[in-house]
Amino acid sequence: MFDRYLTNVSTLKLDVGRCVGCRMCEKVCPQHVWEIRDKKAVIADLDACMECSACAMNCAEGAISVRRGVGCAAAIITSVLGVEKDTCC
Ligand code: SF4
Ligand code: SF4
Repeated sequence: MFDRYLTNVSTLKLDVGRCVGCRMCEKVCPQHVWEIRDKKAVIADLDACMECSACAMNCAEGAISVRRGVGCAAAIITSVLGVEKDTCC
């Protein structure tokens, strides 16, 4: 089990049509967000993503996009506003 941030706020996206199943995203992700199923990457645990962008930077096919740090920043801001508990750090 890995740290959770806010539910459904990660900007992580996969263009599965570009994915060649090389497993690089799975290898570099510190949060174990990725799985390979039927030779394609799958976002298996979106809410564990901390938007570090390691997967996007290492995907040679350009299949992954993520706005670095947005989810974490959002977690802190909403925590300060008292909207939701900060689980980012
Ligand atoms: S690094 Fe890119 S091409 Fe390789 S498995 Fe992940 S999404 Fe697919
Ligand atoms: S952005 Fe970082 S934490 Fe999120 S899926 Fe990619 S490597 Fe994993």
